[in-house]
Amino acid sequence: MLDIVLASNNQGKVREFEKLLAHLPLRLLTLKDIGYTQEIVEDGSTFAENALIKAETIFKHTGLWTIADDSGLEVPYLGGQPGVHSARYAGDNATDQDNNAKLLLDLAAAQGEERRGVFVSEIAILGPGKIRGVYRGECRGLILNEPRGSRGFGYDPLFYLPEFKKTYAEMTQEEKNEISHRGKAMLKTQKALQEFLKKI
Ligand code: IMP
Repeated sequence: MLDIVLASNNQGKVREFEKLLAHLPLRLLTLKDIGYTQEIVEDGSTFAENALIKAETIFKHTGLWTIADDSGLEVPYLGGQPGVHSARYAGDNATDQDNNAKLLLDLAAAQGEERRGVFVSEIAILGPGKIRGVYRGECRGLILNEPRGSRGFGYDPLFYLPEFKKTYAEMTQEEKNEISHRGKAMLKTQKALQEFLKKI
């Protein structure tokens, strides 16, 4: 069993990663498990940069294999916002509800195609022996006028997938992982991990 640290404190993400990595010979540790309490300053301008910042910080600290995801929602009508600021869109201590309320307000005048949004996930892996990779996944949908569903986290209740007639928050974890931005990035990550694991 290889120990791998997930550089995140977001419980929603931790749950998704646990499911996504369940079949690999890995033990997933969270920042809580390793007692890391400092804040990681995510000051990159892209998801990939921020994923690497998080992974590098924890890899340098522990020397253990580290996996980090940086993700968010880009809305073309809003010039790509909330983007890398998705977690703090409505302010530094914003809750998911605050962020969703701000998104609805900012999109109040938007209709039809103007409500298009794309979720992006970039997953970085770092490990001993110069192991390094960054993998991207995207999922396209529409931002509803009001929340629907009670599962998931973040913007899930507003993110509607026309082909499934459901929001992310109306999907089970399995359904969401099949088609989500993180699920797609994770598929690439799993393949890379399997190759990395063969080499150690
Ligand atoms: P990060 O932890 O800096 O990557 O912040 C990502 C933020 O983007 C989260 O706090 C959510 O607001 C949003 N986000 C990312 N992935 C998802 C998702 O799968 N569903 C809903 N919101 C998400």
